Amino acid sequence: MAKIDFSKYTIRFITGSQHLYGPETLKQVADNAKKVVKALNASKEIPIKIEWVPTVKLNEEVVAAIQEANADPKCIGVICWMHTFSPAKMWINGLKILNKPMLHLNTQGNRDIPWTTIDMDFMNLNQAAHGDREFGFICTRLGLNRKVVNGYYADPVVQHEIGVWARVAAAWADSQTMKVARIGDNMREVAVTEGNKVSAQIQFGYSCNGYAVPDVLKFIDAVTDKEAEKLVKKYFDLYTVPKKGAAEKKSFLAAAKQEIGLRAFLEDGGFTAFTTTFENLYGLDQLPGLACQRLMEEGYGFGAEGDWKTAAFLRTAKVMAAGLPGGVSFMEDYTYHFEKGRERVLGAHMLEVCPSIAAGKPSLEVHPLGIGGKADPARLVFTTKPGPAINATVIDLGDHFRLIVNELEIVKPDKKLAKLPVASTVWIPKPNLHEGARRWIEAGGAHHSVNAPSLTTEYMEDFARMAGIEIVEIK
Ligand code: MN
Repeated sequence: MAKIDFSKYTIRFITGSQHLYGPETLKQVADNAKKVVKALNASKEIPIKIEWVPTVKLNEEVVAAIQEANADPKCIGVICWMHTFSPAKMWINGLKILNKPMLHLNTQGNRDIPWTTIDMDFMNLNQAAHGDREFGFICTRLGLNRKVVNGYYADPVVQHEIGVWARVAAAWADSQTMKVARIGDNMREVAVTEGNKVSAQIQFGYSCNGYAVPDVLKFIDAVTDKEAEKLVKKYFDLYTVPKKGAAEKKSFLAAAKQEIGLRAFLEDGGFTAFTTTFENLYGLDQLPGLACQRLMEEGYGFGAEGDWKTAAFLRTAKVMAAGLPGGVSFMEDYTYHFEKGRERVLGAHMLEVCPSIAAGKPSLEVHPLGIGGKADPARLVFTTKPGPAINATVIDLGDHFRLIVNELEIVKPDKKLAKLPVASTVWIPKPNLHEGARRWIEAGGAHHSVNAPSLTTEYMEDFARMAGIEIVEIK
């Protein structure tokens, strides 16, 4: 259920022109468009298949091409290119009904100007430089959110920008059918994890509904000891396990039952994101830590303390990042290091940090949890790989949603965190902690975020445009 499969999606490539130039020019336009599509499909940067569609030259053809893209359930977006001039009034009726993301590619079939042989025929054929400006005007005039990419189609930078957009378009398509399960309400008295779920569904497409712990317990109680023991064996293969005493084994077994049961509950309901809360654990013997960590790693969105917005956004980020190195995790700004010139943040959570961001083999451990009043929960403990990353969060401001993104550099902890019983990561926000934290807080950024070493601000910009929400960038 949580599996992310890009092969089920396609993107349509629509080339604009007009009848003014005659059939010979239009044939070359079609040939060049097919050549561009072939090159984009061969690029490792672009994981979604692009389909060429016949050149549009009239208002009716634009409307038909857009209607077909809208109606095709596999199609997650369109790329438009004006190879020649394509008077943009013919695009108005079509663009007005477009309901999928659009990328406007401002490219050329030729890389270089043929200085010594160029004539007016060449000029008439290769005039995206002004044809795409006419198209850009009408998009702006219509208030259409789209990504504009300029450059030669074979340039890896251009292909990367298209690839980022394609991944975000897949995440956007995923968001339209996403179901988020809230297991228990959000943490009492907390403000930022609240929000309007109707507004969220209108804006992002996903539905979010509440379930009681016994709804999940049914599935956990159905797990046999044998199934759980088999999974514990797998844990022992995958992780370092420093202590395997009777108390630990009991905890591992309970965690394995939670994992199998939770997964079955999510699959049964068609959910790809979920929340838990330590304030509502009736019938559970421990707060699900390990289960949430491992389900996140599989691709499920997760938010602790009932944080459904972050759960949904984490799933969206997981789709964007599918197959990329670096990982994506639920995260919380925990505590600061204020040494002058070496300021940094330690991020962690009570238990639930995704092992996709771990450096090396995580350690499976059992420790007491200060809150919740339940049995000691199992969890994976690790630190993370140094390198660039982003933290991003979506907040509900009552009349609109705002996405806040902060670029950061993950660094190694100064010393071994010998007594910290949870997974953690250390980072330096950009431009620095002093400025970065101030701006995050001024923008209303949550303490929960999506931490993504595998993504960049560009993904967030593309997402904000597709969703039609505000974005605040800190870099
Ligand atoms: Mn939290």
